[in-house]
Amino acid sequence: MAEPGIRASGYEIKEHVVQADWKTVLNTADTVSEYGATVDARNGELEAFLEFRSPAPEDPGEGPLAGLPVAVKDNIAVRDFRLTCGSKLLEQFESPYDATAVAQLKEAGARIVGKTSLDEFGMGSATDTSTLSATRNPWDLSRTAGGSSGGSAAAVASGMVPVALGSDTGGSVRQPASFCGVYGLKPTYGAVSRFGLVAYASSLDTIGVVADTPQRLESVFSVIAGSDEKDQTSVDIRSMQVRETPGLKALTVGVLAPDTADDPAVQQAVRDVETYLQSQGANTERVNLPVLEYAAAVYYTIATAEAGANLARFDGVRYGERPLYAENPDELVRLSRSTGLGDEVKLRILLGTYVLRSGFHDQYYGRAQRLRARISRDMQDLFTRVDVLVSPVFPTLAFPLGSDGLTPYQRKQADRYTTVANLAGVPALALPTGVYDGLPGGVQLTGPKGGDFGLIRLAKVLAGVFPPPTPPNYPRVWS
Ligand code: GLN
Repeated sequence: MAEPGIRASGYEIKEHVVQADWKTVLNTADTVSEYGATVDARNGELEAFLEFRSPAPEDPGEGPLAGLPVAVKDNIAVRDFRLTCGSKLLEQFESPYDATAVAQLKEAGARIVGKTSLDEFGMGSATDTSTLSATRNPWDLSRTAGGSSGGSAAAVASGMVPVALGSDTGGSVRQPASFCGVYGLKPTYGAVSRFGLVAYASSLDTIGVVADTPQRLESVFSVIAGSDEKDQTSVDIRSMQVRETPGLKALTVGVLAPDTADDPAVQQAVRDVETYLQSQGANTERVNLPVLEYAAAVYYTIATAEAGANLARFDGVRYGERPLYAENPDELVRLSRSTGLGDEVKLRILLGTYVLRSGFHDQYYGRAQRLRARISRDMQDLFTRVDVLVSPVFPTLAFPLGSDGLTPYQRKQADRYTTVANLAGVPALALPTGVYDGLPGGVQLTGPKGGDFGLIRLAKVLAGVFPPPTPPNYPRVWS
């Protein structure tokens, strides 16, 4: 039986508990080297960072995020840092430019301190398809930190940084955030520029934020949200017509039947939030999403088809590793890919090619597109009736690394709750609700397109009742 989450009835949460003034904290050579030593020790156990550089003490920065150390997932470009995408093929590749989101963070005074581990090209759920390092969970080193943004989530949960950028194509910000007990936002599709994010599946890809508090998540998201001429699919959600998320008393909440999740702790987390919202006068209704059954299949058909096309650029000619000798150009491409790419990535390129093959196209890709349209419509309809949907993030808590964990098929099926938001282009936020048998658990809030700030506002309210948990072995050094 799962223990109930840490419920905080009668417990007063002070806003901004974990708000440290990074500008003053990291302002001398001594404090910076202390910070570097803490990160070194913790990262030795967790392997969250692929690359870390202590910030310069004389450079506290100016702007709304002045001095804030930020980690960036290693499929997002940061000038002069490597951009490996967790792949051997790009192990030595350095980015000559900044992603738009990174440029905006720097402009706002944030300090980029490192690049975090990920599943190769973002393809996976446990950071273990990385050919460079598999991140461990700060709550239990034998378990995964989740994926694909496992490095970002573990870096935040273990107090190495207060905030990190991740990418979310099918759940890669929310699932690791939830496995590690921190906040993770997948924005509305296009709300944050994708310029400088290495493409996995372009119609689903988003840059998202992992943070230790919803306040911090908000301040970072506010800086990176906006349209960008370098990404023609980007939109300014501030100029979208979105219904205001009302206060709790006037809130209508859809709650996805919790028993669709395998783990009783996951079901408990959904019920905890439902019970609290009801106690505050919110109107809750249980909803059924018939499309959920198809979400993972639709997602993996579309994502692999797009991945096959996007990864064609890694041919050993333009980027990264290539063999010392090849007889001809075809062999150069073949050898570069066969030695540079890992098995999961190869599998997905093959699947993507398969679903697009002439004769199969209509049966797989065409069908998936029609189902995707249906999923979008169902979500649109849902948000005419409810302000927000509460659901599980993943059917289990953080699973064990290695052969005791989920099978590849189970892992893919388990993406059903998160992929819906990517397929429909709507925002979704994972938040922690407590500790269940020693592991963090939480729920997902999903909202209408452009409703990102509404979700964050609700997460702030819920943080007052479900405080963000801290892993016992990694106390927050800066709070
Ligand atoms: N687990 C999903 C996948 O493997 C999600 C990945 C992501 O969001 N980048 O594709």
